[in-house]
Amino acid sequence: MNIRLDKKSLRYGVELPQNKLMAQSPIELAPLPEMVTIPLEENVGAASETLVNKGDKVLTGQKITDSDEFDSVPMHATVSGEVTSITTAINPSTGQAMKVIAITSDGEDKWVELQPCPNPEAISSEEILKAVREAGVVDADGITSLAHVKLLPPKDKKIDTVILNGYEWEPYVTSDHRVMLEYGEKVLSGLNIMKKVLSPVNVYVAIGDNKEDAMDSLEELIVKAGYDFKITPIKAGYPLGDEKTLIKTVVNREVLIGGLAADVGVVVYNVSTAKAIHEAIYEGKPYIERVVTVTGTVGNPKNLLVRFGTPVKNLIEYCGGITEEGSEVIIGGPMTGISQFDPDSPIFSDTNCVLVKVSQPIMDMDCISCGHCIEVCPMKLMPTLYPKYVKVGRYNECATAYIDICTECGVCAYTCPANIPIVQYVRVAKKELSRRMGKE
Ligand code: SF4
Ligand code: SF4
Repeated sequence: MNIRLDKKSLRYGVELPQNKLMAQSPIELAPLPEMVTIPLEENVGAASETLVNKGDKVLTGQKITDSDEFDSVPMHATVSGEVTSITTAINPSTGQAMKVIAITSDGEDKWVELQPCPNPEAISSEEILKAVREAGVVDADGITSLAHVKLLPPKDKKIDTVILNGYEWEPYVTSDHRVMLEYGEKVLSGLNIMKKVLSPVNVYVAIGDNKEDAMDSLEELIVKAGYDFKITPIKAGYPLGDEKTLIKTVVNREVLIGGLAADVGVVVYNVSTAKAIHEAIYEGKPYIERVVTVTGTVGNPKNLLVRFGTPVKNLIEYCGGITEEGSEVIIGGPMTGISQFDPDSPIFSDTNCVLVKVSQPIMDMDCISCGHCIEVCPMKLMPTLYPKYVKVGRYNECATAYIDICTECGVCAYTCPANIPIVQYVRVAKKELSRRMGKE
């Protein structure tokens, strides 16, 4: 059976130095932190209720927030210990205030009793949805969304294709690559669970062609397990891993502006989400950790399995500390990551990388109307407009120029000969528009 399809490539974007220095570095367990800071909700779904109070003792995996709404997930304690405060902190991804629960670890990592599904092979779709929700699994594939909600698309949308995203689009980041290599069986089992629920005609595993070892490994596992999944190699280029671009590349369907993947019959999941879904069903394990690449100007870069809420400074210290003066700490990759000013910023479910690098001074010159940014934008936007509008406060024009569909991939800024930090302007405009709409 031919499992590996012909290689596909993207029409837009640029080729970047990959710098995936940790691709061959096995995942290590990060030390348990002395304290974790867990957000009450991760900016997705309905608001949750806090189930614990200051001073309560909690076990690892114990539910600490929940809601009656389907469109919501519970959060779980990621260490055992004591709830020391319920307070507000700055969200490292958005810069906005968020409510958090701080837990001081007792160092013992005592877990709640996990309750795997009794008969996973014969489990119903309803039971899968319930178990995935209970485990608090979120999918961080470009935009954070609730994994169980993606398994229940609107009734008028027929899903015929599931794409598992193992492309891993940003330079430096190797967490998904290692997950595919080291947890391949779980990843494919999770994908098979999605298939049971969504009943698609086609299931594709999309992988960058710079990850030949992951393709070989998953191909072997697919044959061994008898899955009818196809591996789609994709020529490495940037950007590609966002949902809409990936759909266009793999199945040549165009998600319209403001549309959803489900509109064109597709659901896309990240490989780490598939692993988490397997663990929710077969192990009853809540979603409390993920693989994070810690790389750049640190003594010993690593891929680490990290509990959510761990302060970023712990990971940097564990990886030998910062080795070059003038380095900045970025949560995420070099193109889409956010520079951090607080060393206690916590790791969240969407943190795939901590990049430490010497910052380059930004010289924001005037636009020379070369049009390079327009040529490379995967969303077919006119990035050149956003800095111009933001500089004179014309935010509504940014909205008219479809700024909401900008994925903040950064490829426009990368190609700009005038070094205009276009993404920073995009973020300023989105924040202002969001404020005007009363979302803050
Ligand atoms: S405008 Fe947005 S989507 Fe287009 S290249 Fe720039 S950052 Fe990427
Ligand atoms: S790439 Fe830079 S200089 Fe060229 S049109 Fe876009 S914003 Fe202007």
